[in-house]
Amino acid sequence: MTDIEELDTRKAKDWITAPWSDEQVENINRFQNAGAFHPFTCNCPHPERNYKLKATNEGLRCTDCGWDQRWVHVFMADGSAMANWEESMSRLGLWPF
Ligand SMILES: [Zn+2]
Repeated sequence: MTDIEELDTRKAKDWITAPWSDEQVENINRFQNAGAFHPFTCNCPHPERNYKLKATNEGLRCTDCGWDQRWVHVFMADGSAMANWEESMSRLGLWPF
């Protein structure tokens, strides 16, 4: 296996495609709405700047134009990004708000 192939394999393990379970959808939407991370956004220029994508079982959707994306990072779907963030914040006395 070349270095490039190994890197591609590692990257491939970092994302997960829809359909997602209800629990995964909940985790993804918590990530999208936490304000702690940059959320996935729509590709279209929406005047109201309301282009944050919303997770459904079938994928991420823009509620404005229907743009969809069928993958997220594993750490978004499994809740680990939020859990790590909450743990760090609570250690600093900054969570819960
Ligand atoms: Zn859109």
